[in-house]
Amino acid sequence: MEIQYRMETDVLVIGMGGAGVRAAIAAADGGARVLLAGKCAFGVSGATFYPGTPGWGMQAVIHEGDTEDYFLEEILDAGAGAADPELAKLLATRSTARFHELEDMGIRFERYEDGRYKGVIPCFGKRLRGSSTLGIAKIRRALWLQLMRRNVRILENTEFICLVKKDGAVVGAVGLDALDQPFYVRAKAVVLATGGGCGIYKYSLATPDETGDGYALALDAGAKLINMEFIQFIPGLTWPVKKLLFQEKNLVTCPKFTNGAGEDILAKYLPKGISEEACLTERAKHGPFTTADISFWLDLAMYEEAAAGRACESGGIHVAYDPKVLEDKSWVITSWLEWMNSRGVRPVEEGFDMIPHAQCFNGGVYIDKNASSGVPGLFAAGETAGGAHGADRLGGAAIAATQVFGALAGERAAEYCAGCSAADVSGAGIGDQLHARFGEARGTLADIPKTMEEIRDVMWRCGAIVRSAERCGEGLARLAELESAFSPALQYERGADVRRVGDLVSYLALSKLLLTVMDQRKESRGPHYRSDFPEPRPEFRGAITVKKEGGGLRTELVTFGKSESGAKA
Ligand SMILES: Cc1cc2nc3c(=O)[nH]c(=O)nc-3n(C[C@H](O)[C@H](O)[C@H](O)COP(=O)(O)OP(=O)(O)OC[C@H]3O[C@@H](n4cnc5c(N)ncnc54)[C@H](O)[C@@H]3O)c2cc1C
Repeated sequence: MEIQYRMETDVLVIGMGGAGVRAAIAAADGGARVLLAGKCAFGVSGATFYPGTPGWGMQAVIHEGDTEDYFLEEILDAGAGAADPELAKLLATRSTARFHELEDMGIRFERYEDGRYKGVIPCFGKRLRGSSTLGIAKIRRALWLQLMRRNVRILENTEFICLVKKDGAVVGAVGLDALDQPFYVRAKAVVLATGGGCGIYKYSLATPDETGDGYALALDAGAKLINMEFIQFIPGLTWPVKKLLFQEKNLVTCPKFTNGAGEDILAKYLPKGISEEACLTERAKHGPFTTADISFWLDLAMYEEAAAGRACESGGIHVAYDPKVLEDKSWVITSWLEWMNSRGVRPVEEGFDMIPHAQCFNGGVYIDKNASSGVPGLFAAGETAGGAHGADRLGGAAIAATQVFGALAGERAAEYCAGCSAADVSGAGIGDQLHARFGEARGTLADIPKTMEEIRDVMWRCGAIVRSAERCGEGLARLAELESAFSPALQYERGADVRRVGDLVSYLALSKLLLTVMDQRKESRGPHYRSDFPEPRPEFRGAITVKKEGGGLRTELVTFGKSESGAKA
């Protein structure tokens, strides 16, 4: 691969979702020259601008009786021993200021006529906290104006494929521009804000650019990742439209769940003593799947029925509502029905099909209180960063994290730049680092879309709702076969499907890493369910970190000394 041209900046922000944009704003305010890049056009990709959701819910202490201490306590409780208290505290104490800044930028959060914010008790939370902002288009416009007013340079349709280091520090990155031309950016600091990796699952609420690039890039650069096995799975529609977010609050009305043969699935899986009503009432309290309470059985039933080939034709489980849901005039139900109707879904008249979808990574690059990855010059924020959330994560805390850690990463990156000069790396030096990442050209060209589809299937079967030593082993074995048949260097050399080579490199790195840590955690906790270890085990209380070492992956359990939350039964 020959570098066609070079660019220069102080701070390169890779990824232009909520975290990347906030990092760019903060770095520019800190006096740095900023280059902000994303794989697609601005505001149309990533989880922040996901088209199948009505807007953002964001955590902030804005309701009477709530405090930052309560907020912190709830993060740690939901985290079940896996959240880093120092990072959780930053989230709890800084979200509210970031929330009001968004308002100052013109983003309107929902309020009642008397001025009070509309809010809900967040998923896995205990108190009313935060609010929602509806309308992705309005958010996009407000953020764009902030970037333009600060003269931030924006590179759209640009994919970064390799971080470049000198003397142990990250000093630049290689990208493919909108015309697939390789180029080099010399930067004093890089902020990774590439979002999560949900796209590696067969069913995901992810745009195609969400391939886990930041995790793979950071891992190769020597950073540590944390809590990667804790991935949120949330029901999403498979019919009459695909990839639409489900809204769990309405589950208190006890809809019926049936498989492709029209059989009631819930009764079949619920253990004696747990009623459908009790399970669904609990399930209505949080969007994501968890092992922490009896709602567990609903997601398990949907997943197992689909895995046994008994789903509806769409791949999902059919959900039918009693018309009494129409009588509920609370804003959460009426706005949900309006949203569904606007997308052509008639929950009462026709019902819909749904199945758990990967929606958000709770872990990521293990940052410190300066949003640094531990590798000099490399910062991370948003869904790419980990540590602030634990096993389960409070609803609205991911958007809050994009703002808190985005701002922190941008601010600290700008400070870091002020204290260092730009480092030069020769063409040969860059070539060596590309070689280290992509290897020797060998073998034959791979069918990249087909390989990616197979990985999505493997991860759905082996690393989604139900995990076990056997499934992790089976998945890892298949991934090794797929990896040996893929030579990224050959694809680049021949110019074959180059835009997706980096995606597949990330898919493989992330899938292997996930199945490795899922295998290591021999217990069930939060969204990590092991059929061979169905309960939490005290010796696993803590977070698993993972880094590259000696050509393999080295995992370590770190503990933070907080008591764990309850088990499901
Ligand atoms: C349907 C849905 C609803 C959600 N609702 C909520 C909610 O209400 N509240 C909440 O707190 N959380 C919610 N979440 C989670 C939350 O939206 C995300 O965690 C958050 O938006 C992630 O923001 P981010 O900036 O880290 O990443 P993203 O918004 O995913 O942005 C990633 C960016 O990185 C770019 N990128 C990726 N790889 C590369 C590369 N190699 N080179 C260049 N660019 C790259 C992408 O193009 C994109 O611009 C939801 C998630 C989903 C999917």
